[in-house]
Amino acid sequence: MAEVLFFVPAAVVLCFLLQRRCRRSMEMPQYNYFRDLLLVAAWVLAALWAGSSVSRFIVGMAAFASLIGTCQHIRPHWGWKTVYLFVGLLFAFFGPKIGFIGLPDGQYHYFSPEVSIIATALWVGVFPVLLQQLDNIPGMAGHLLAVSFSLLLLATVFSGQDLPDAFFMSLCGLAFLGVFWSRHGHMYRRMGESLSAFWGVLVAGTSVLGVSKGITFSTLLLLPLGLFAIPIMEASLHFAGLAFSSKPHGAAVLYRKLISRGLDHPSAVRFITSLCALGGAVIAISQLGNSLFMMLWVSATILFTGLAIMPFIRKMKENAEMPLKPSIWSTSVDNVSMDYALAKTRAAALSGKGVSLVSTVNALAVMEAEKNRGYADALRSSFLTLADGAGLVWALRFLGTPVQERVAGIDFMMRLSRTAAAERLPVYLLGAKEEAVKGAAETLKEQYPDLVIAGWRNGYFDPCDASVAGAVRDSGAKILFVAMGVPRQEIWIRENARLLGDMVAVGVGGAFDVVSGQLRRAPGAWQKLGLEWLFRLLQEPWRWKRDIDLFIFVCRVFLTKLGLRPFREDRSAE
Ligand code: UDP
Repeated sequence: MAEVLFFVPAAVVLCFLLQRRCRRSMEMPQYNYFRDLLLVAAWVLAALWAGSSVSRFIVGMAAFASLIGTCQHIRPHWGWKTVYLFVGLLFAFFGPKIGFIGLPDGQYHYFSPEVSIIATALWVGVFPVLLQQLDNIPGMAGHLLAVSFSLLLLATVFSGQDLPDAFFMSLCGLAFLGVFWSRHGHMYRRMGESLSAFWGVLVAGTSVLGVSKGITFSTLLLLPLGLFAIPIMEASLHFAGLAFSSKPHGAAVLYRKLISRGLDHPSAVRFITSLCALGGAVIAISQLGNSLFMMLWVSATILFTGLAIMPFIRKMKENAEMPLKPSIWSTSVDNVSMDYALAKTRAAALSGKGVSLVSTVNALAVMEAEKNRGYADALRSSFLTLADGAGLVWALRFLGTPVQERVAGIDFMMRLSRTAAAERLPVYLLGAKEEAVKGAAETLKEQYPDLVIAGWRNGYFDPCDASVAGAVRDSGAKILFVAMGVPRQEIWIRENARLLGDMVAVGVGGAFDVVSGQLRRAPGAWQKLGLEWLFRLLQEPWRWKRDIDLFIFVCRVFLTKLGLRPFREDRSAE
């Protein structure tokens, strides 16, 4: 015990220092690989120095599962998931086994050796796959693991049973999750096949420790069952759906429901985690009945659940008060936050359902839509229309139909590139002058080294030339940024939608010029004051003619407010 209490904190400090040291000297992808290796190495060393033979066995099996995960990453179509059952079988033959289960009446049902092996193999074999499934929602697997290991540790400490192996494993689990938290709890980065499999075996293996020693204690086994109840149920429904329907609803139903109700990705992850924690708490309480444990866990869960639910309730309230699609004349915008827009766009990029157009509109774009029918139609067909531009946000607020926040096209492009890098979704850059698009591609790659740039091309070509759309489709891109200015870019995307295939296409105006450094973006204070147009005018004085429209826009907003110029088409009630 003393060894464990000395070694685990020492390993944590060492890992922390090593990460800090290497953070500065390594490139980002190199650093990420290094951290994953360091995590596995820390577990192995901890087990070798302070763990018993059982802990060493579990960690060894987890390391083996992580190797399979690596192969799965390299050759994703080779049916690796069944190999985890082989890991489960090895585990069941040579390691701790599920020897019995507790029945509701307090009795225990002891398994025959064969049933014991099958139950253990299934239990250990399923968890890596379950965690990989959860990992499809970035941050989800890490958060649930943190709750699992906290609960396992608390249950071990308060059970009143002598469970040194379970204590060691859950302490290490919690400590290593903590020191590598930015890797596991990152809301926009997945753990990957290898780490998910590694942690899957660890959590399943640790939970088996309570039922393998012949002592009548099965709480540890039941905890993950309660905790992972929702994902297990969703995964089962998904697999049942695969059997019965050619178009199953897919896993992560709850998550998708929350997102479609307007919750952003981080809040949805926290919400589901807290629901799962409640499931775990119910099991722990029913099993342990220990008052101190109950108090601790129930208060922590209530606090956590409250914190997680608050943004949900606030968002629902805001959504109830604000129109979902406020309109200004013939243009409707989506009243969404940056996080929500990113979550929706990410889902659309993965869904493979034709071209989803994301338009970013400002005051000038709204004016353009009044004059240009083709552009107005393109906006109407948009999957998302984001309120870019302080002038438009001001006008919507002034007219009594505010949006929750401004989502600037360039910020959206940068955040979406970050998501694309984490998700390995290839992007294509189309538009602007040759130096600008090339510079933008280089800057994005520099900023997000994991980003896959499927291709780029300047925006000066004949709009009737179908080969451009063909080249974009053939590049395999899932996200296309088009920077050819309003309304050219939206009309081009709409007209070429059938040639482009399945992808998200985002109109980003002059973003490449700014990202490549050809133009400067207005400083924050100018943006807040709504003077971005002036900053741009100072850099490109030839724009003065277009900016006259801004003046007309403001006049029309005032007229509308006075009821002198009513909305031509009001869809705010939709
Ligand atoms: N652009 C282009 N093809 C064209 C005309 C313009 O790619 O035929 C590019 C231009 O180089 C600039 C971008 O479109 O980088 C945005 O232009 P603008 O500033 O007019 O668009 P806005 O930001 O006003 O939508």
